[in-house]
Amino acid sequence: MAPDFSSRKPQCNNVVRVEMPFTTRCLSCSRSLARGLRFNAQKTHCGNYLTSPIYTFSFSCPTCSSPLAFATDPAHRSYRIVTGMVAFANKTTVEEVETLSLPNHSIYEVQEARDAMQQLEDEKEDKRKATEAKSRLEALVQRNEDTAGGGNDIERNRALRSVHREGRRERDALQEATRALGWDDDGGVKLLPASDEDTRRARAAMAVRARVTKVSPATALRKRMSGAASSSIFAPGVYDGGKKRSRGRT
Ligand SMILES: [Zn+2]
Repeated sequence: MAPDFSSRKPQCNNVVRVEMPFTTRCLSCSRSLARGLRFNAQKTHCGNYLTSPIYTFSFSCPTCSSPLAFATDPAHRSYRIVTGMVAFANKTTVEEVETLSLPNHSIYEVQEARDAMQQLEDEKEDKRKATEAKSRLEALVQRNEDTAGGGNDIERNRALRSVHREGRRERDALQEATRALGWDDDGGVKLLPASDEDTRRARAAMAVRARVTKVSPATALRKRMSGAASSSIFAPGVYDGGKKRSRGRT
């Protein structure tokens, strides 16, 4: 909204006391308006930058009464000339006016962007840590279930007692077997639980014993004598055996 310069005299209700934010020169009479010069101006709300209002300060040149105006510039944290003036090229520095340098807009934007990136990285790191902790916790729970058989304390206690009961029955059975064999179980002789290896060795020993029994000398002699009594000495088997033996020798 452009300021209204139809009336040279500012309205009393919006008149404020301001001072020139920088040194300017009137375009009509070339009068210099120094920075810090105080005068009355009409303050007009002429818009917004984001949520910050933009105000225009309108006044007349003290020499030629030309309409002059400057406005606030929230986007650059400064002021801008609206009409009737031109700013001097040589702007003052912070060292000259002995004040502090404020960070400009771009620095704030960079800082905000950096904060946003840092926030994203922090969130990513938090998610990674949470996933790691979750998998570790799940592994611990799984291992606990595997070792304890799962369930609650009562079930785990029952499983443990069952295992102990089995072991006790096995030991009692072995002691009974030891006593049945006539061995004193307190005298150092102990039966161990039977294993598959024991079974295999026992079967092998029984087979050897059966073979030895079958070809024992007494049985062989008895068979040979009964065979000689019931067969001829010229039986074909005996004669062939003799031929085979003589052929084998030549
Ligand atoms: Zn002027």
